[in-house]
Amino acid sequence: MDGESADIAISLSTTRQGATLMEAEPSFPPLAVRHGSPLGYRSGCRSRGGCPNLHSDHLITCVDAETAWRSDFVLGRKPLDEPIRRDEVDRTRAVRERQASTNRASAKREPHWQRREAQRPVHGSASGYLKGCRRPEECPGGIDGVTCSEARNAARRRAARARGVPTRPLPVDTSPAVAKIQLLREAGWSLREIGRVASVGHTTITNIAAGTTTAIWPATLARILRVSAPEC
Ligand SMILES: [Zn+2]
Ligand SMILES: [Zn+2]
Repeated sequence: MDGESADIAISLSTTRQGATLMEAEPSFPPLAVRHGSPLGYRSGCRSRGGCPNLHSDHLITCVDAETAWRSDFVLGRKPLDEPIRRDEVDRTRAVRERQASTNRASAKREPHWQRREAQRPVHGSASGYLKGCRRPEECPGGIDGVTCSEARNAARRRAARARGVPTRPLPVDTSPAVAKIQLLREAGWSLREIGRVASVGHTTITNIAAGTTTAIWPATLARILRVSAPEC
């Protein structure tokens, strides 16, 4: 025993048998500090070689007890003066290693950006589109039924407006055009003539007159209304 560990009140348990004896005869004086506990380390048993538990199968040295007590959550709840058994340390180490291997296995299974819930595409958003949801027919849609593609288009329109890009005009109702075409036809115009004078496609004029088309661009409506016939 060196001078350091002699500071500890017990120097009995020099062997495995000693440790057993120590526990079997608690009355042995003065048993104030037991080796293999954090308190043993704090009382001065600060080298592994100097601790009588060095070769014990059941107990660990005071140095190791201090380390285990500090590093393990469960062992850290034990009283400072209670010796830590070797099997307790082995058990916590086994638990730690099992957890570590589980973490490694799940890390292999899928990349971290897929594991993170927040990174999954939120359908019905422009970010969903950017994360790969590009086909409207495959998108389940957001809470209001908007697909990722629609959300992206809306976001791009908003961004363009913010940059000062003029917005595309919305289609307008064909009713005024239908009325005008009706008047022109009553005046003897053919649909082909109306289309040619208005610079509007014959098919478009036909569809408007037939009611197949119910919305046209404002510019188209304006061109049709501009067609001049003295009678109109
Ligand atoms: Zn010790
Ligand atoms: Zn989507």
